[in-house]
Amino acid sequence: MFIHLRDRTGLVQLSFGPEWTEPAAAELAASLSPEDVIQVTGRVVLRPESAVNPDMETGQLEVQVSGIKLLSSADPLPILVAVPPEEELPSEELRLLHRVLDLRRPAMLRNFELRHRVTQATRSALSDLGFLEVETPFLTRRTPEGARDYLVPSRRHHGEFYALPQSPQLYKQLLMTAGFDRYFQIVRCLRDEDLRSDRQPEFTQIDVEMAFVGEEDIYAVCENMLQRVYREALSEEIATPFFRMGWTEAMESYGTDKPDLRISWKLADFTEILTGIGFGIFDSALDAGGRIRGFVVPGGASLSRARLDGFNELAQSAGARGVLWIKRTADGWSGPVAKVLNGSAGETLVEQFGLVEGDLVLLVAGPDRETSTPLDALRRAAAGEMDAIDNSSSWLWVTDFPLFEADLQTGRPTPSHHPFTMPRDASPERIREEPLAIRSRAYDLVLNGAELASGSIRCHDSEMQRAILETLGMSPEEIESRFGFLLEAFRYGVPPHGGFALGLDRLVAMMVGAESIREVIAFPKTTAARGLMEGTPSAVDAAELAELGLKTL
Ligand code: ASP
Repeated sequence: MFIHLRDRTGLVQLSFGPEWTEPAAAELAASLSPEDVIQVTGRVVLRPESAVNPDMETGQLEVQVSGIKLLSSADPLPILVAVPPEEELPSEELRLLHRVLDLRRPAMLRNFELRHRVTQATRSALSDLGFLEVETPFLTRRTPEGARDYLVPSRRHHGEFYALPQSPQLYKQLLMTAGFDRYFQIVRCLRDEDLRSDRQPEFTQIDVEMAFVGEEDIYAVCENMLQRVYREALSEEIATPFFRMGWTEAMESYGTDKPDLRISWKLADFTEILTGIGFGIFDSALDAGGRIRGFVVPGGASLSRARLDGFNELAQSAGARGVLWIKRTADGWSGPVAKVLNGSAGETLVEQFGLVEGDLVLLVAGPDRETSTPLDALRRAAAGEMDAIDNSSSWLWVTDFPLFEADLQTGRPTPSHHPFTMPRDASPERIREEPLAIRSRAYDLVLNGAELASGSIRCHDSEMQRAILETLGMSPEEIESRFGFLLEAFRYGVPPHGGFALGLDRLVAMMVGAESIREVIAFPKTTAARGLMEGTPSAVDAAELAELGLKTL
């Protein structure tokens, strides 16, 4: 009889035989169930040549068990633990409900071993660069990062609330003002937002702030840290400095502020070539102040009608009216636009874009705010179909974001990063007069089309800071009551400073090749923000509420 015994380091084979096993031990062993917890006594021996298992890490040896003790017995299991191939995993709901069993799978353990190495490497990299790890409060005032706050009612002060931090943003700026010079924290951030598929209400970021720096200093620290992390956690070298691109170019050439540069295709403006040639949709897009943008898919004429219909649905779900396609085939043009391309427009297309037989052009017409997202989605989907995604990693700093963007519903300025970002070439007057024209000193770090980190040089000028907060619609009284402590600190001498925060969950997920950050968070919530295993959130009784001065409606 054999048993595979598992611990954190892996599996080992136990073997039982009349020559070395006590009869009572053999009897107990025969009655064991999967996941029982046992203690064994025996001899570690080499297996006979014929019994060596090359597929098992410990396959050349086994433990000849003399005695065995049952430390804890396991009930029949609601989900399988025994190292199933991934496709046989139970549903994610069951995995989250029985998370303890799910975490016993070696694949999960490996994720957390890597996560541990990442945080260790982060700590040593930043410590070696002179950063201090400082903790900041969890019961705090509201810090705007663009989401809703989780509020904690105060028992001592009825009607007043703490907010859980959306990030330590203001505290880290205050630490710079306090002269700490270089701070970091591996910190939980809490944001009450409608969870898109891969967000969590609480997530962890590597939060960094430095005084007396410009963008280049910050990029260098972040790159150095990531280099150490990849080297120490994965034994991989990543090349630095990372590529940089201004926000305007990113939006124009890729339709997104987080371009996936593993795909070489760029967006282009086809407006001039395709308007005024008798195609109504294009002309009316131009009349409405829009453009015709699109890109060439080399070899894409081979894509079937069904695939192109799929692209159309994708573009529509991303907010476009639809996608128009042109194929360059052996018999000339094909597609809904073909009939107007036989003249000089077709020739110009071929010349300007070097189109050859077999190419496809995908086009979306309309104002940029409606076409950028669909074009980015189409570019990524088409590249996936055509196998045109390079398998290297593409690291990119996107720089010079606008300071504000117009809220889609109200048109009012909202911060593109957060309100504590330093404007580029601006004065308080200009911020008040033409907020939407101002650029900022904010940057994002993008890996393979995913935003991994973001940060900025901060506004350390009280007057400029006031102008920004006023532009966001806050009255002087509100500014005083919410941010008075920051502006007050700035009155006593403040070093110029800046920093960034990098999403640790996303980084580790990408390093282990997981689809979801839930694979690298021990006890994550569902997309409905519930903890299935422990049952959160949960009701509290009226007496507890009364103590907090609360009543539910
Ligand atoms: N506080 C920002 C965030 O959490 C990062 C930063 O600006 O440093 O996204």
